[in-house]
Amino acid sequence: MSQYDIVIRGGTVVTNTGRFLADVAIAGEQIAAIVAPGTALDAARTIDAAGKHIIPGAVDVHSHHREPGFTHKEDIISVMQACAAGGVTTSFAMPNVQPPPNTVAILDSMIELYNSKSIIDWNINPAGTLPEEIPGLATRGIAAFKVFMVVDTGRSYPHMPGIGVHDHGKLLEIFETIAPTGVPLMVHPHDQQLMSYIEKTFWDRGEHDAQAYAKAYAAYDGIIWDTACALLLRLQKATGTPLHLLHTQSIGVIEQLRRARAAGQDVSAELNPWALFMGNDWNNIVRLGSYALSYYVPEKNTQPLWDALEDGTIDIISTDHGPHTKEEKEPGWTDGWKAHTGTPAAQFYVPMFLGAAVDGKISLERVVDLVATQPAKRFGLGQKGRIEVGCDADIAIANLDTTVEIRDEVVLSKIGYTPYAGQTMHAEIETTLVRGRVVYEGGKVVGQPGWGRQARPTA
Ligand SMILES: [Zn+2]
Repeated sequence: MSQYDIVIRGGTVVTNTGRFLADVAIAGEQIAAIVAPGTALDAARTIDAAGKHIIPGAVDVHSHHREPGFTHKEDIISVMQACAAGGVTTSFAMPNVQPPPNTVAILDSMIELYNSKSIIDWNINPAGTLPEEIPGLATRGIAAFKVFMVVDTGRSYPHMPGIGVHDHGKLLEIFETIAPTGVPLMVHPHDQQLMSYIEKTFWDRGEHDAQAYAKAYAAYDGIIWDTACALLLRLQKATGTPLHLLHTQSIGVIEQLRRARAAGQDVSAELNPWALFMGNDWNNIVRLGSYALSYYVPEKNTQPLWDALEDGTIDIISTDHGPHTKEEKEPGWTDGWKAHTGTPAAQFYVPMFLGAAVDGKISLERVVDLVATQPAKRFGLGQKGRIEVGCDADIAIANLDTTVEIRDEVVLSKIGYTPYAGQTMHAEIETTLVRGRVVYEGGKVVGQPGWGRQARPTA
């Protein structure tokens, strides 16, 4: 029997602080040795990574898996196939499914479902909408709670009634109840009352299409985002609850985050790929309508967002993977409020950001930190997010010497299309390992349902 199960030879290991040539040996589920290239090692299998880059698998803390309840859009197996092909080794599921996991009993049955179907590691963020359930939910190995401040007008999904909270007192109660559990709370920021007025001004002028919808959400330089952020930061300060702020996209939010960090507040902030590769180009919204929306992020925000990623004001990139069928997107051409909002990205965001590093927009080390090291650290996953001896062998091997056009034909997500089709990336994921097992190689998902495990916080 060999001493090691796998050795990855000849690649450049990229960490959040630097890069070096090394061979990486795996025993069982862990990284067992990192040695000089060519060191004699007794391994059952060798993966040749000469000329390639070896990065920690991405930890996506914000993904809409749609199961149970909305499996016509996506399911656990299809989303995890997309993840495996995209270098994602851990993915957190959001609670806008049916029934939503806001009680211990519902969460437990969802955990059972994941145990039997998962290809990669996972966790589930329950909705923290029922304060009496919060202490019990916190005992189930969860890494975060999730609350939406938005309830949709004009449609019942993706922000359905029952899991949205925009009453400020109720939010304070939720923050206060979560605080003693020590579990971070992630929040989709939104100001429903401002939005109700803004929407009405568009509708009164007879403007209903996807372009009107895009402009409404971005109105007054992102006022609905900025005011919600201010409230959330103040609730964080009042209660001490670790806050993870979603959908960072406005200069106003970036400025508030800088002040909160300087004051030592316990806050992390997330950027989603649509804010830099899709919704930040008005031409995409004209061309693709609701297919381009998550949200419209006016162009002047683009450089400040890259700057905030570089200096750590935004410390996490996750997908907000939000697949919807074409039937659910088409109504947007005439009524943007009827189209389901969200864009899929699980399969492409890691290579998109690695490609941006190749293009000089950000450093490779920052990308590794943003997609893997920081999300693992923030959510207590001590075994994940790093290429280090003793860590889980969650690894993506990337080719950064290539040009790949994104095409609908390669989409593994159940919906079978991507709004990013036609974009080119200077990076490609070639191989993905989850806890020492190869789940993607040679252009094929080879991981099997049942291998994935709940990524429980260790710290
Ligand atoms: Zn989301």
